[in-house]
Amino acid sequence: MVLPFKHEPFTDFTVESNISEFKSALEKVQGELGQEYPLIINGEKIYTDDKLSSYNPADKSQLIGKVSKATKEHVDQAMDSALEAFKTWSSWTAAERADVLYKAAAIVRRRKHEFSAWLVYDAGKPWNQADGDTAEGIDFMEYYARQMVELEKGKEINDRANEQNTYFYQAMGPGVTIPPWNFAFAIVAGTTVGPIVAGNPVLLKPSENTPVIAYKLAEVLEEAGLPKGVLNFVPGDPAEIGDYLVDHKDTHFINFTGSRATGTRIMERAAKVQEGQTFLKRVVAEMGGKDTIIVDKDADLDLAADSIVNSAFGFSGQKCSACSRAVIHEDVYDEVLEKSIALTEKLIRVGNPADKNVYMGAVVNQKQFDKIKEYIEIGKNEGQLAFGGETDDAKGYFVHPTIFKDVDPEARIMQEEIFGPVVGFAKASNFDELLEIANNTEYGLTGAVISNNRSHLNKARYSFNVGNLYFNRGCTAAIVGYHPFGGFKMSGTDSKAGGPDYLQHFLEAKMVSETF
Ligand code: NAD
Repeated sequence: MVLPFKHEPFTDFTVESNISEFKSALEKVQGELGQEYPLIINGEKIYTDDKLSSYNPADKSQLIGKVSKATKEHVDQAMDSALEAFKTWSSWTAAERADVLYKAAAIVRRRKHEFSAWLVYDAGKPWNQADGDTAEGIDFMEYYARQMVELEKGKEINDRANEQNTYFYQAMGPGVTIPPWNFAFAIVAGTTVGPIVAGNPVLLKPSENTPVIAYKLAEVLEEAGLPKGVLNFVPGDPAEIGDYLVDHKDTHFINFTGSRATGTRIMERAAKVQEGQTFLKRVVAEMGGKDTIIVDKDADLDLAADSIVNSAFGFSGQKCSACSRAVIHEDVYDEVLEKSIALTEKLIRVGNPADKNVYMGAVVNQKQFDKIKEYIEIGKNEGQLAFGGETDDAKGYFVHPTIFKDVDPEARIMQEEIFGPVVGFAKASNFDELLEIANNTEYGLTGAVISNNRSHLNKARYSFNVGNLYFNRGCTAAIVGYHPFGGFKMSGTDSKAGGPDYLQHFLEAKMVSETF
């Protein structure tokens, strides 16, 4: 019997045995850095001369691994193998497909710290963030497996006299998964195994920033018994194969998570029917955020500071859900700002994330470092620098937690996604105005309200226009099966990853009616 879904517990890093196990995992992975990895097409490992090199964000000179680069010809081969694999994989029962995911989850669970250690080196994640990323990946496998078994039963519709009607779901065909680097295990795993357990082979093109941990996932799925051709691993230069994957006439869906610019490009291109294409492509595009925490006049101000600081600076603000705007009632503005600065000073240690007590590691790469630095300069003209602002890219890409106060809600640092540890504070004189500011960006991903006023919470429930709204907590850390995740407006297609509707994006619903 399959037990009901329960999310993977986080590791308690105050426990000595957990600390030493994690350190051993870091040592193990350190001994494996610098290796070369192949493409996987139809189960075959293919090494190419041209490679993507992945470096440690906290130590630019440390090579994490070199991953083979797929060309357009490789994409064609991968698509052919996916089309062939579709014939058999889609005929497996949901329970049979689910077993592959349960086994993959079990393999990762047994090697959990090892996966997290790869995230420390490859993505620059501090221990707890890496641990959360791995746990979420396990959750996606466990959750989607169970969801598919349920969905296979179909849904009830009505019969009439002399007529029987059935309604059920079937797989669509091969598609493409294009994840970002910031949840280099969890999002890669979730966006890959979701369509797969629904019966669709996938071509996975991981982010060029974190291809090694994505390869590790492909290895696990193979070990768990996924038939060849069901997952084809085709990392590469997005400029070379990105459009090609999206445009391919046999790509049935594109499961994308990443920036607004790439997502909208994919949406546009996928709309064009290619020669020989006999269906419309589906696009799931989960994109950026500009997420706000509102602090009401009647609120727990320590909770407010804690929520702002942890949501703004966890993983250096490199989360689509990160709080980059704190919008605060004028009566409590100064106090919340003061508490947030004091907490940041006390809590946040910036350094190499391989060290246990580091809260914030380096940001992912030079491009991201330069972009954040530029926004910090912009912020100095748009508001007052209240805390931080230092950057240092001598060894790795380090940006310190940065707080701007008294920022105009229309300012660029309050409107554009920075994707770094930078938060702007703004004030308003009543709750309606707080809400109005919270809603004034083109994004609508996450938000939080810190308030003890029930009627204000009721109002926010329907008027705070975001896909994931949290009351009296931070706006990050969605858990699979508990907080289905996806945004409104230019944050994307609201696919609700880790939720009960997610797999339907990769399924076709069919009705059969028989007259007796
Ligand atoms: P990105 O858009 O630069 O890249 C995302 C993926 O798209 C990568 O795999 C990249 O190689 C690929 N890509 C780039 N150009 C392409 C093209 N022309 N065709 C096809 N694929 C292409 O984003 P990123 O920097 O990797 O990730 C950060 C962004 O992701 C942020 O905006 C963040 O908010 C967003 N994000 C959103 C969610 C969510 O659930 N809404 C979750 C995590 C991250």
